[in-house]
Amino acid sequence: MAETNGNAGEPPPPKTKVPSGVWVKCKGCAEPLFAAELERNLMVCPKCEYHFPLSANKRIELLVDEGSFEEYDAEVVPVDVLNFADKKPYPRRLAETAKKAGVKEAVVTGLGTMEGIGVSVAAMEFGFIGGSMGSVVGEKIARTFQRGVDHRRPVVIAAASGGARMQEGVVSLMQLGKTNAAAAALADAGLPYLVIISDPTMAGVMASYASVGDVTVAEPAALMGFAGPRVIRETIRQELPPGFQRSEFQLEHGFVDLIAHRRDIRSVVVQLIRLLTPAS
Ligand SMILES: [Zn+2]
Repeated sequence: MAETNGNAGEPPPPKTKVPSGVWVKCKGCAEPLFAAELERNLMVCPKCEYHFPLSANKRIELLVDEGSFEEYDAEVVPVDVLNFADKKPYPRRLAETAKKAGVKEAVVTGLGTMEGIGVSVAAMEFGFIGGSMGSVVGEKIARTFQRGVDHRRPVVIAAASGGARMQEGVVSLMQLGKTNAAAAALADAGLPYLVIISDPTMAGVMASYASVGDVTVAEPAALMGFAGPRVIRETIRQELPPGFQRSEFQLEHGFVDLIAHRRDIRSVVVQLIRLLTPAS
């Protein structure tokens, strides 16, 4: 698991028996939702608009022009540098997760176009060990920025993560500096970086590339921060304000620049890119 459970501070919704697979219980309103309908609705609850995590491949599909995406670095896979085992050995966890999630790591990266504008794009997969960042996620994100520089393209990253990957220990933490240095190189090249924050984006990822976008776009009610609300509440022993660390709270406090519904993210990002890259 990732180091922080982003929703740890929320009381669990009342339990209802929901058969898995066909029906999904909404994390926002606890209503049972028909899985196929939820998928058709871009994984947004039709009743309360709660934005469920979106798979990396679906996110890419939603962002870029059809047929324009060219994946890079799909073959870069992690190594078990620490010979780490928690409930199971790390290599087995990776293999099982890859099979379940349908991707080999917690981020999918490549080049594509958005309404004809070339972008270097990355989308994180929360279903892959909580979207945690280890050596491969860090490397693929750094290369995403580098491809932006090399091809003179803006960078768009859709973030969703519980933080650093504890199975890679200090190697995970090194990715914070590495990804931020890569983001700085993009800025030095005069190219914009747009970050899309989805629920949840926490800890090591929020403490690195997810918090240094030129414009920070968030999906509604996404939890974002370094430590989660439960940890903060227990540390400072104070009640936290309502909606603490959610998109709307972060917008009010200046961290988030704008909130957009999932169906509007693409057009919002395209508009922002047009504003930030005047025709040469
Ligand atoms: Zn709902």
